Amino acid sequence: MKINNLPCEFKKAMPIVKRFKQASFVAYFVGGSVRNFLLGKEICDIDIATSAYPAEIKKIFSKTVDIGIEHGTVIILYKGRSYEVTTFRTESAYQDYRKPDKVNFVRTLADDLKRRDFTINALAMDSNGEIIDLFAGKADLKAKIIRAVGDAHKRFHEDALRMMRAFRFASQLGFIIESTTYQAIEKNIFLLEKISVERIQIEFIKLMLGEFRNKGLQFFIKSKAFLYLPFFKQKNSEFLKELLLLPNDKLRTSSQVWALLGYFLNLSKNEFHKFLHAWKEAKNVFREAYLMLKLFKKREHSEWTNELLFQAGIDVALLTEELVQLLFRCGNSKKVKEKFAKLPITSRNEIVIDGNDLKNKLNRPPGEWLGCMITDIERLILEGKLKNEYQAIMKFVKNEGKNDKSR
Ligand code: ATP
Ligand code: MG
Repeated sequence: MKINNLPCEFKKAMPIVKRFKQASFVAYFVGGSVRNFLLGKEICDIDIATSAYPAEIKKIFSKTVDIGIEHGTVIILYKGRSYEVTTFRTESAYQDYRKPDKVNFVRTLADDLKRRDFTINALAMDSNGEIIDLFAGKADLKAKIIRAVGDAHKRFHEDALRMMRAFRFASQLGFIIESTTYQAIEKNIFLLEKISVERIQIEFIKLMLGEFRNKGLQFFIKSKAFLYLPFFKQKNSEFLKELLLLPNDKLRTSSQVWALLGYFLNLSKNEFHKFLHAWKEAKNVFREAYLMLKLFKKREHSEWTNELLFQAGIDVALLTEELVQLLFRCGNSKKVKEKFAKLPITSRNEIVIDGNDLKNKLNRPPGEWLGCMITDIERLILEGKLKNEYQAIMKFVKNEGKNDKSR
């Protein structure tokens, strides 16, 4: 099959593939870009596989970045974009069901495609737009099936992460996992325990952010994958079934995912911290997710107040409102935006006076009182009880100063 009208992402990268050819190597587009293109979906990143070894790649292209030379991966910078280029390789020395530390470089595409996880990911495209499909990946794309390349049992033994990847592709694409492949998952799911949390987390988040989340979750739950994953293994799995009852509205960020799970698991701040720590999540994600969880619990019982919106900021407020919509079908992002736009201040910096003004006005040395007073001013402005104007605030401050002294 040859495709004549290639999307611009491929056209822009085509000179790279052709340069390899001029240097007597071969190179192909591989992986997700080819799959998504055939599905008419957005193409995120373009991966290229080549017969050239890393040192040879670096000789051909002047702008490269080493990101995993020992695994054969080099980034080529070309016309303001970056392309991940990987030498054809096989992965023979698997240890402990993890991805191998050692890879063998090979010179043929066929050997490289064999080591790929699923038939739909083992498609390649050459510089003429010709699709190379050695494992009937196109038929599986058409039938909406996720099927391991070769013997599924062996493939999951080689790298157990592939089972999580199967769930996430089910969620992203809305495909089902073919029955032999699924049976191999059920048999080997316990091997997930051997995989690093960081790798599992990436796939789990992609699963939760997928367009067909419930499809991915169904396989995830049925296979009992959660029994081998951090934190979930100590919990009753009922919360996952409750998740399945939600409509398929797409989530946008990992912080939304964690906040949603924190709500279903009914976690305190301390437990929530432990939860995200177990999943090796970054501190900034924890902070945003916890804020969202807190606001969501308030929003569950009341409308947004100016103070809550101020605390949230517009981004977190909208993400929280989307969770309200997902769970209770009564969120209204437009209303949140309108109310946010009417806030008298959206950050403390917008208050027309600052700490220095207060110190000078009251002629007092700095101390705890200063922070408390600014917090009071901020609250009153948000509640509409004090205008964010110099004179009005100074009048308030003067009265407060008197009250303070008389106490
Ligand atoms: P995405 O659109 O999310 O980037 P992708 O299919 O490109 O999807 P990547 O994780 O970027 O997924 O991997 C690129 C390709 O590398 C895959 O399409 C697959 O061919 C191969 N691959 C990735 N991880 C594995 C693995 N654990 N085992 C075998 N092949 C893998
Ligand atoms: Mg990719």
